[in-house]
Amino acid sequence: MRAVDVEEASSICMGRCRAACCQGPLVLRLSREEVDDFRSRAASLGLGPVRARTLEDGGGLVRFTDYPGDRCPMLDPDTWACRIYSHRPGRCRDFPERLTPGCPLSEVVFGEDDAGGG
Ligand code: SF4
Repeated sequence: MRAVDVEEASSICMGRCRAACCQGPLVLRLSREEVDDFRSRAASLGLGPVRARTLEDGGGLVRFTDYPGDRCPMLDPDTWACRIYSHRPGRCRDFPERLTPGCPLSEVVFGEDDAGGG
């Protein structure tokens, strides 16, 4: 496993796969503590209301297909950057935990990347 700093990770995610993990038919799980914060940050950014299906434990599920372009509402489609990167949810911070198909960052972190570029 190789450590990757924020700059390198951003370069890989924005330049090589355009944040594939933040778009498509995926669901982002928020903890109970994260739901209100996520909603208020979206409102502060003028992104409109966040629809999050409420879970039994008080957490929420944000379904990307509910938003334009089938993207996480926090993903900037012009830059492929997360608009709340320093405050992103725990699920986003933890990803990727392992080598993941279609995720070039995971290939770098978990040692399967020998190409050095996209
Ligand atoms: S909050 Fe940010 S890192 Fe997490 S899925 Fe949305 S755009 Fe991606």
